[in-house]
Formats: sequence, structure tokens, C-alpha cells
Amino acid sequence: MDVLNTKGRGKRVLVAGGAGFVGSHLCDALLAEGCSVVCVDSFLTGAHANIAPLENHPGFQLIRHDICEPLQLKGPLDEIYNLACAASPPRYQADPVHTMMTSVVGTRNLLSLAERHGARFLLASTSEVYGDPEVHPQPEHYRGNVNCTGPRACYDEGKRAAEALCFDLLRLNRVDTRVARIFNTYGPRMQADDGRIISNFINQALRGEPLTVYGTGEQTRSFCYVSDLVTGLIALMRLDPNPKTPVNLGNPGEFTINELAAIVQEMIPEAKGKIHRPLPQDDPQRRRPDITRAKALLGWEPKIALREGLEDTISWFRLGYEAEQRITAA
Ligand code: NAD
Ligand code: UDP
Repeated sequence: MDVLNTKGRGKRVLVAGGAGFVGSHLCDALLAEGCSVVCVDSFLTGAHANIAPLENHPGFQLIRHDICEPLQLKGPLDEIYNLACAASPPRYQADPVHTMMTSVVGTRNLLSLAERHGARFLLASTSEVYGDPEVHPQPEHYRGNVNCTGPRACYDEGKRAAEALCFDLLRLNRVDTRVARIFNTYGPRMQADDGRIISNFINQALRGEPLTVYGTGEQTRSFCYVSDLVTGLIALMRLDPNPKTPVNLGNPGEFTINELAAIVQEMIPEAKGKIHRPLPQDDPQRRRPDITRAKALLGWEPKIALREGLEDTISWFRLGYEAEQRITAA
């Protein structure tokens, strides 16, 4: 982080989706290394609490804005990170047309802003561009197996279109774009009720409810702690020369959902067993990043093992749960 610290000083950086889970940690890291940060967010799935501690920071500016609408900004701009998009399947499927427009029209609007300012641009893309993968683990050259008419398509195909826009503008020499393909990431500030696996399991366990396992629970995911991801995003943005290729960012440790349930049950004594629920349509069966490219280009690999990251995440959710209990009891 020391090298990154000196590289960021004095830069003005826009973080779209900066009030969300990953975005708010990215805002923290950029401010800590001396950047000034413009956080653009519609608060669709973001939370004011995530950025409340930053509001008195002299280098922090908040703009409430939906990126589906064009954005003008006064003053210089060095970098744009586009993280704006709901990431939890129930949330992005709640308004699928808006999800698709956020990735396509929203990314185009932010690319136009980057072009006008001569700013670098990083897209937070996703492992979902690989769909339900037939190649395992997934390297960046794998073109994926996405159902373009299914309920996940608004997200998967939206991100694929956003990637295409980024590489078109790069080839046209109009914007210096970078694309990070992010695999499942977890940590403090995930929304307790957003339906993702780690937030669901921890909150169910804290409440003494059974963990809801969808399908057999033999499907796998690879879980990256948020601080590792943020380090990777900043390293990709700062990389010279432009790698001209997408880069997977994720933790290659692979766990079945049943294994994850067992770990959470062991770490949270209040947990009460598990129940099975139907597997959602098009739920990918296996997912693990091949991070050879990130290691070679960025010298990056995750440092936080699952149990270590879960400890922090559980402590954070526990604080929120206990505060809620005190309010209910009062
Ligand atoms: P999140 O839902 O917590 O954050 C997304 C943020 O974007 C929220 O603050 C939301 O209010 C904002 N937003 C959504 N649509 C917007 C719009 N049209 N205009 C302005 N703001 C808008 O999700 P996250 O987990 O922090 O994910 C951040 C990014 O990383 C997303 O682009 C997501 O696709 C990508 N990603 C995340 C994961 C993960 O596991 N967390 C995995 C792959 C990719
Ligand atoms: N899942 C589950 N129980 C839950 C939430 C999710 O078994 O309460 C499963 C889901 O079906 C998927 C995996 O956990 O196989 C990861 O789901 P998540 O929504 O976190 O992210 P995805 O990787 O599917 O986008």
C-alpha cells in the first residue's frame, strides 16, 4: 500500500456507486492515499451510513445522481471507477431494465465524462460474464456461457455490453479504460437484507434461524475479502502501460455452499441448522477465478483467508444486530 499511497496523492477521482458495499471501501482507501474523491450514487442499494464518516472529510464530495442520466462535473478529473450497479441477484432482478440501462447507458455516460476530462476509467465487471461456466477455473480468455434470455441476463449481459463499450473506446484511443472481473466479494457494509449468501448466512445465524441453502448446496463459489479486492482495483487503475485486457480479481479458494454453511455455523454459536430452498434459475454451478494474469500484471493476490475475513464480517454484523436488539428492547 505504500507505493499506492504516493501514486494517488493530489488526484481527483470519481467513484460511481461509492455509497455501496465495495464502493465505500474504495472511497476510504483513495482518501487515505491522498486523493480527493467525488462519490456519485443514486442510493438504489447503497447506504448513507457507509459514507457518513467521510462527509466531513475536506477531500470528499457526494453527488446524488443516477448514472443513467448524463453527468457534468466542473474541475479536473483524473480517474473514474464505475462500480454503480446493484450486485445482489434479488436486487438487480427487482428492476431488470434499470439494471441493464445502468450498465449500458450509465457506463456510456461515465465514459463520455472520462473522455471530456481525459480521465482513466475502470469498470467493475463481474465473474457473471462467464455465466454458468464450462471451463474451470475461469481464465479471462474464456468467453462464457451466459443465458441471454434468463433472469440473470440483465446483469450478465449488461456487464458484457459495458465491457464491449470500454474496449471500443480503448481501441478508438478515446479513453484509457480498464476492466476488472470481480468474483464474489464480502466484508463489512454488505447490506444485511440484500440476499447474498454471506450476508444471508451470517444474519440468519445471528438470529438463531436455519441457514437457507439453495438447491443441494454442492454449487461452489470463491470468496474474496473486500480489502483485497480494493487493493487489486487500485493497482489495475494505476498499472502502466494499459494491459488492454480484462483482469480477474478474486480469491481462488473454492467452497461449496454446504462447506460455507458449516464454517458459519461453527463460527456463530447461535446458528440453528440449515434448510434447503429451491435453486434459483440459471444459478452457476461452479466458480473460481484463474488469477494468473492479476499475479503477473499487478503482482496481486488475495491475502485474507476466508475464516479471517469472516471473523471481521461477523463482528461487524453482530454489532449492528445487537444495536437493533437494544432499540427493540427499549
Ligand atoms: P452494492 O449494491 O453494494 O453497490 C452498488 C452501488 O451502486 C450502490 O451504492 C447503489 O446505490 C449504486 N447504484 C446502483 N445503480 C446506480 C445507478 N443507476 N446510478 C448511480 N448509482 C447506482 O454492490 P457492491 O457489492 O458494492 O458491488 C459494486 C460493483 O462491483 C457493482 O458494479 C458490481 O456489479 C460489482 N461486483 C461486485 C461483486 C461482489 O461480490 N460484491 C462481484 C462482482 C462484481
Ligand atoms: N445462496 C444460498 N442461500 C442464500 C443465498 C444464496 O444457497 O441464502 C446460493 C446461491 O444460490 C448461489 C450462491 O449461494 O449458488 C451465491 O449466491 P449470491 O447471491 O451470493 O451470489 P451469486 O454468486 O449467485 O451472484
